[in-house]
Amino acid sequence: MQISINPDRLTSELDELAAFSALEAPEVSRIVFSEHDLRARAWLKDLCAQAGLDVREDAVGNTFARWHGSDREAPAVGTGSHIDAIPHSGRYDGTVGVLAGLEAIRALQAASFVPRRSLELLLFTSEEPTLFGLGCLGSRLLTGSLEVSVDTTMKDAAGRTLREIRTAAGFTGDLASVRLPDNYYDSFVELHIEQGPLLERRGVPVGVVTAIAAPASLRLEIYGQGGHAGAVLMRDRHDAFLAAAEIALALEKAALATGSIDSVATTGVCDLFPRVSNGIASRVHLEADIRDIDGVRRDGMIEHLERTCEDVATRRGVSISIEIINRDAPCACAPKIVDAISAVCTESNLPFDRMVSRAYHDSLFMARICPTAMLFIPCRNGVSHRPDEYASPEAIAQGTLVLAQTLARLSES
Ligand SMILES: [Zn+2]
Repeated sequence: MQISINPDRLTSELDELAAFSALEAPEVSRIVFSEHDLRARAWLKDLCAQAGLDVREDAVGNTFARWHGSDREAPAVGTGSHIDAIPHSGRYDGTVGVLAGLEAIRALQAASFVPRRSLELLLFTSEEPTLFGLGCLGSRLLTGSLEVSVDTTMKDAAGRTLREIRTAAGFTGDLASVRLPDNYYDSFVELHIEQGPLLERRGVPVGVVTAIAAPASLRLEIYGQGGHAGAVLMRDRHDAFLAAAEIALALEKAALATGSIDSVATTGVCDLFPRVSNGIASRVHLEADIRDIDGVRRDGMIEHLERTCEDVATRRGVSISIEIINRDAPCACAPKIVDAISAVCTESNLPFDRMVSRAYHDSLFMARICPTAMLFIPCRNGVSHRPDEYASPEAIAQGTLVLAQTLARLSES
């Protein structure tokens, strides 16, 4: 079967999609359920309808566009990603996976391919945590990974509930209905820019993802004693900032100590109170992110952090509270899909690397309900979530071709 991808069409569709933005190009901002997001969705649904796909939406706005296979009863093969974009970001994160999925389907149609299993493009709602502070909202709900009570408990910064916001955006119905039935998908594969530098550095066009790291997010409050920077003697101090500094350094040490490059830990927020140069910090708010592809190792870093906090609290006479905001399990990708992508590359004499995804994606949650894997393409300097994010039309077309061949293979299985 001769499959040909139309790189010009893909590039111009990526440009069109980028124009649905609250910010001027090259910056993109498309927050879920915003006017721009809704217009982008309408545009995309139109493209899917033009391709003859059967389009439906669920109660939270996850959008499905299905090309029916000859065996309508057989579980489908899914592909897709997200189109929401954080403020001041670029045009490739997520969008490439959605438009490449559509282009792959159109290319297979043009090649007169007849799928046995239906092929379905999936647009996930709110992969980015911008609105509600929680990423992968759509895929969590699709896979039963989130209580449906969030409908009324989860709120945006203005205090509006998820239910209010989704209803206003036209997505009504019971949130419980979002969960996919068992055996809905036979397999799921997501194409995404790498968001890291490895493929570009090695000159390799395709990354086959074998595992997806998962973050744990923690909030820490440290209460010490404030005071005058001149008057309080050093030995009498209970400086909340110095306790925080020790904790941040201990976290770095814990990540390095595992000996694995897949262990990473970051203290990204450190707010001091009262934040004056001549006053000792009485209170510090820290936020940390700890990730690994190995859940046991990742939780080991959390335990190390907890022990450090106890020790620091005792030594420095401060009190520390730790709140674990989320602690998602990492996932291993399905060998059957990893093998399918690898076989496609091998048959096309296309070099590929097996690699892990250090960022997390909707696929992390899809892996809980069906065999799942990801396909990475190189992006310039590994840059993502920035206006200068870039993947070349050639790289995108190459990845799309591999995706199309992989979908064809999975559809026949
Ligand atoms: Zn993404």
